[in-house]
Amino acid sequence: MSTFDIAVLTTGDELLNGELADTNTGTIAAILTRHGYRLRCSLSAPDQEKEIEAALRYLTQHVQAVIVTGGLGPTGDDLTARAAARALGQSLAINDEALEMVRAWFRNRNRQMEPTNERQALLPIKAIPLPNSLGTAPGFRLQQGDCQLFFLPGVPSEMKAMFEQSVLPALQALNPGRSALQQRTFKLFGLPESRIDAMIPYRELPAGVKVAFALDYPLVVVKLRVAGDDAGRQLDRAEALLQKVLGEYIMTRNEETPEGNVGRLLTAAGLTLSLAESCTGGLLASMLTSQPGASAFLERAAVTYANSAKLDWLRVPLSLLQQYGAVSEQCARAMAIGLRQASDTDLALAITGIAGPDGGTPERPVGTVFLALASPDGVHVKGYRFNGGRQKVQRMSAYMALEWLRRFALRQQQEPLKG
Ligand code: ATP
Ligand code: MG
Repeated sequence: MSTFDIAVLTTGDELLNGELADTNTGTIAAILTRHGYRLRCSLSAPDQEKEIEAALRYLTQHVQAVIVTGGLGPTGDDLTARAAARALGQSLAINDEALEMVRAWFRNRNRQMEPTNERQALLPIKAIPLPNSLGTAPGFRLQQGDCQLFFLPGVPSEMKAMFEQSVLPALQALNPGRSALQQRTFKLFGLPESRIDAMIPYRELPAGVKVAFALDYPLVVVKLRVAGDDAGRQLDRAEALLQKVLGEYIMTRNEETPEGNVGRLLTAAGLTLSLAESCTGGLLASMLTSQPGASAFLERAAVTYANSAKLDWLRVPLSLLQQYGAVSEQCARAMAIGLRQASDTDLALAITGIAGPDGGTPERPVGTVFLALASPDGVHVKGYRFNGGRQKVQRMSAYMALEWLRRFALRQQQEPLKG
């Protein structure tokens, strides 16, 4: 099979001065990958004709297709057509077909066309215009030797629509691509990447299945990928192996979310829940209620931040707070007990800790967190010392609580509660 390498060139000063993160490359890469193509490389050039020209000269010599985004608008910093003409040694001329596309766009919207908009039809002489149904700037297509070039607007929605309507079919006509890569994604909690890697039975995986890692703090993302006609069956086998060795750590599969899964598990187990959050400030409640159907299990959630709230709403004894402090095993336990009495739910979960950056002491440094879970099984408390800044400590606390609820609900399915 001959190689068919594809490159993306994005343009715009704001991509290089930190004002704007490039999303066009990712959008194109995802579509290409789904269709069995490989993006060989990507470049970003500033709004300077010479730079865009140089990038085009380089890319046309190294790949078989180049997709360029940005700089097709009517303003002075829109230089892509001129740079393309220079790079390919062509002159610029008003393209009648492109001009009619621009005119039609204004006509269909009963809007006055500015003379500057005509500039958008000024294209390299051999350009073939590509229609833009969402904006004024037509795209265009050129060929240089063995290299096909596609020029699209920078606006992400216009770019994506035109890529799917015009560019992808053209690429498929040039080269059918390999059979598309299929992927399954799993997010694991509670083990570091290196440990997970060591536990994966690589030698038993079906040939061709590749394992990739990523991080979605505090979750480790494991991706199983394979191409070919047998991809589905190979992924089934690989997934079964992964489930066998790491199943208990898997929080989500593909598009699932941890909070969605925990909510579904609690609902399926018929468990009701109440929450009292201190250092997480409602983060856990927010995560759980971001999912539809949370009312099936969540009865109430309180942010009991100050001692007065813990005294008033959770009936934590003043003497206990004075003796042990709010960030203590004793306080977490009392919070969960008080909460469960007030709410009458199956489960009452309390979180108290020091998210920082201030408030730590030598015995109770920043990152000290206690979780307490009151259930018909009794009250259990777990203590942690998390690393990282405020947001990390809060996030880790919420995930630890989710994980505790997840495991509780799973166990409950196997051996129902006493009472
Ligand atoms: P316009 O007619 O709007 O000028 P254009 O084709 O000239 O379109 P640009 O001027 O380069 O495109 O970009 C227009 C806008 O699209 C930018 O201001 C930016 O908000 C967005 N944009 C451009 N390139 C990218 C990119 N690579 N990733 C994300 N957004 C982008
Ligand atoms: Mg522009």
